[in-house]
Order: sequence, then C-alpha cells, then structure tokens
Amino acid sequence: MAEHFNKKPEEVVRIDYHPPQKAWMDPTIDFEKKRGNWCYGAAAKNTKYLDLPHPRDWHPTDEDWKLPENWKEIILEGIKERLEKYRSFRLFMDICVRCGACADKCHYFIGSGDPKNMPVLRAELLRSIYRNDFTTAGKILGQYAGGRELTVDVIKEWFYYFFQCTECRRCSVFCPYGIDTAEITMHARELLSLLGIGINWIMEPAANCFRTGNHLGVPPHAFKDNVEFAADDLKDVTGVEVETPIHKKGAEVLVIVPSADYFGNPHYYTFLGYLALFHEIGLDFTFSAYASEGGNFGLFHSREMIKRLNAKIYAEAKRLGVKWILGCECGHMWRVLHQYMDTMNGPADFLEEPVSPITGTRFENAKSTKMVHICEFTADLIQNGKIKLDPRRNDHWKVTFHDSCNPARAMGLIEEPRYILRNACNYFYEMPENTIKEQTFCCGSGSGLGTDENLEMRLRGGLPRANAVKYVRDKHGVNVLSCICAIDKATLPDLLKYWVPDVDVCGVHELVGNALIMKGENERATDLRGTPIKTNGGQGESQP
Ligand code: SF4
Ligand code: SF4
Repeated sequence: MAEHFNKKPEEVVRIDYHPPQKAWMDPTIDFEKKRGNWCYGAAAKNTKYLDLPHPRDWHPTDEDWKLPENWKEIILEGIKERLEKYRSFRLFMDICVRCGACADKCHYFIGSGDPKNMPVLRAELLRSIYRNDFTTAGKILGQYAGGRELTVDVIKEWFYYFFQCTECRRCSVFCPYGIDTAEITMHARELLSLLGIGINWIMEPAANCFRTGNHLGVPPHAFKDNVEFAADDLKDVTGVEVETPIHKKGAEVLVIVPSADYFGNPHYYTFLGYLALFHEIGLDFTFSAYASEGGNFGLFHSREMIKRLNAKIYAEAKRLGVKWILGCECGHMWRVLHQYMDTMNGPADFLEEPVSPITGTRFENAKSTKMVHICEFTADLIQNGKIKLDPRRNDHWKVTFHDSCNPARAMGLIEEPRYILRNACNYFYEMPENTIKEQTFCCGSGSGLGTDENLEMRLRGGLPRANAVKYVRDKHGVNVLSCICAIDKATLPDLLKYWVPDVDVCGVHELVGNALIMKGENERATDLRGTPIKTNGGQGESQP
C-alpha cells in the first residue's frame, strides 16, 4: 500500500458521520493533514505539452499555488461563459431544492462521512459562488442568500472536492430534478484548468496520448511488439496461431482497445480473449499504433480535451479506410462515444453504418458514431450461434459482474455482458440489486483518480462496491469480479485486496477466451492466465 496510507480496514470502516464543527461555508482545507485524500498537481511539462494555460510546478501543500494575477477575473468570466453556453449548467445552478435524495448515494460520502462529499453539498461549493456573483439575491444578501465570496481558499477547496468526485453519475439516478453532479464537477474542473490547476494523473496520460496515441506513452514499435507477444502467449495456451494486423489499409473494422489491455494485468488476458475471438470468426480487422488508446482522459479535464483525444480514433478510421469501428472493454471511451462524440467530432459520415460481417446484424444504435461495443458484438455472435463456448472451462471461477459506471449509466449497456457471462460460465451470481445495473457503485478510482497518493480516499470510496462483493463471496463463494472497464481492472485488484481478499478481477472477454472452442486448438490444459482448468462436469448453478 502507498506511503500515505497504512490504516487497517477495521479502522477505516469506523466512519464518523457527525457533521464537523466548522460551518460549511468555511473553505479551508489542511492539505498536510489530509494526505492520502488528494492527488498531486499537474507537472508543468505536461500542461505545457498540451498548450494549456499557466503551466507551472506546484504542490497542493504549498501555501502559494502561484495563481495568475487576475485569477478571480478568469474564474468569474469562465462561469459566465459556461452559463451562457450550457443551459444545463444554469439549470443545475438554479433548480436544486436541497431535498437530500442524492445525499447518501455517493460512494465517497458513504466511505468518508465528509458532508462535502454529499453530491448536493459538492455542487453547493460552486453554486454558492454562482449565487454570490450571478444572482440578484446573492448580490444583495450575500451569505444570507447562500452566496460565498470567491477566495483562494475556495479554489483550493474546489480542487480537493472536485477531484474527489469520480463523475460516476450515481447521484443523478436518484435526483428528482435530474441534476447531474458529474456535469457540475466537469465544469468545476474546467474552471480550475483555466488557472493551470489539475492533477498529474490526468494531465500526464493526456499528454502521452498526444505524443504516442496512448495514455501509457507506448511508442508504435513497442505497441507492435506487445501485440505480437500476446499472439505468442495465446498460441502457447491454445496451439492456434492468430494474426495481429496493424495499419492494414482497407480492413473492414478498426479495433480500439484501452492501452492497459496490451500492457497491464489483468487486462492482458482480456486482450488474449479478443485475439482468440477475432481469429475464430475470421474478422477482417486492424489495430492502429496511432489510435492505440480507447480511454479518453479528456473527459476528466475539459470538453476541448475530450474532442482532441477522441478525434484521433476517427482520423485513423478515415486514413485506414475501414467501414466501422469496434470498441473494446473500456469505460470512459464509451461515455465519450455515447454522449459527446456526435456533437464534437461527428457524425462520422465517411464510415458505414456498422453491420456484423458474421451475422448480418445491423447495429442501428451505432448509426451515427459508427462504433460498436464489443459486448454487443459478442452477444450477437452467441445469439446467432456463430461461436461455440464450453463454459466448463471457467468452472474454477465463481463469477460476479461489476457494472462499470459509464457503460451502465451513460449508455445503458446492462444486459449484453450478463448474456455473455451466462453463456461463457457455469457459475454466475449477481450482487445485491441496489448495487448493480443503473445503481452500480463506482470502483472509487474513476475519472483520473486511480493513483497512489490518494489511496485512502480510493479505498473509502470503493467500500460500497467491495461490500457488495463481500456479500456474494460469503454467500456463494464468488472468487472473481468481472468488469468491462480498464480503470476498473487497474484499480479493483487493490480495492479487493484491501477489503475482500481472495477475490480476483477479470474482463468479460477473458472468460469468453477461456470458453471459446477454436478450430484446430490443442486440448486446453490451462486458462488464458495459465491456471490449470478444473471442470465440474457442467454442473453449473448460475443464478437465472
Ligand atoms: S437530489 Fe437533486 S434536488 Fe435533491 S438535493 Fe440532490 S441535487 Fe438537489
Ligand atoms: S457523480 Fe458520483 S462521485 Fe460525483 S457526487 Fe455523484 S455519486 Fe458522488
């Protein structure tokens, strides 16, 4: 565990829900005392690389954050501009009735007991400035009308709390007015970025993506090596040699994966699963070393950055002359695709409406973006009997499924992964209803917060998810949590190691790859991880 955090679970779980002594309008934060709960500031080299304003090296514990001289003017002008541009922003600032329905729905509030992590109060941190400077009541009555003066401490408080929101949108599911606090967080982060304030774990991946096409900074030749290694590893398990085309002009489909899939564990086994699947169905596809990242860290920074990072996928699709795009297991790539792509870089009229070359299914839902989710694609293959699966090969796994926030809440991809899992595994169990599907709990590390220095807050924020995993582990002996997001796969292993040891993390297509019967394969002795297969003779007991 990280240097800033050495508390035991018994200690962390004793959460104090009593309101603090100081008034909520007091913005002061003791960053030194709160180590483990915030992320390091963006390094100047990354801010500079992205041509963003006011690059400088700074640290949250510094007294002086080296703000530009006219910082106040910049923020107030930034709020004004956003109020004029986004009707939803003005509505969200005006219509909250403080009913409190969202208050206990945020995983960070549940795990920390800090009232400013209640979505309603998080939003109020910005709303109070709006009231003070943009409403008549606030201008006349100030704090009596819920207004607060904009000070440097308010800016520091924004940094602390708006980087303690994973933009997961769970609170919005429960708000009777449809207020989306994630959108408010996005506005607040954009405003902070006007002052050169951001976190390095967002700016570095974004800068890497500009330089190399992926967040990890993997250059094209290393990308090629990794993909070829994966094909070798797959051959060791299956005996089947698969192709790994890169920059194949005129291929039917451009495949986009998050970079962790070909670089990190446990993502890598999911990548092997894709390769096995594409080979088995004879898909005419290509990867691209320049669009070697599905994830879009721009979503955690600004709309402009979303657009810039998303554009490379479509530029590559155009350059390679593919018909459509197949997007793999990633969370924020799909939020961007589903909610923003069309108005930012679309419609992608130079591509064709996606049709599965194997089943003939037309993916009308992707009519405009021309990008199909791998779970939709695979579920369609299974439904049309185009692949053979032997679920007994996953009998050593008792599986549950974590709905990643973005695919579930931002695009409604709920049934497809479950359909795949029920066909690929004999042992599948759901976590409690109020923790899955649209009401899923965040991993606690989304929206660029999956770094080390804020580990305490991540583990606290992940507590509700881990608690539901513990429930199915204790009740059904679940030993693996499957998911379809690269951030989940990167951060859930630490979370579970802390709260629910003995439960592993995997991708859905890792389980597909295990179960997939490939033409000409050797008898499988191990799964894709190299773990010996132990079937139970097909005596599955999955929940319906
Ligand atoms: S549920 Fe909606 S209206 Fe109620 S306090 Fe929360 S944001 Fe405001
Ligand atoms: S979007 Fe998620 S993290 Fe942010 S306030 Fe709402 S529930 Fe909490």
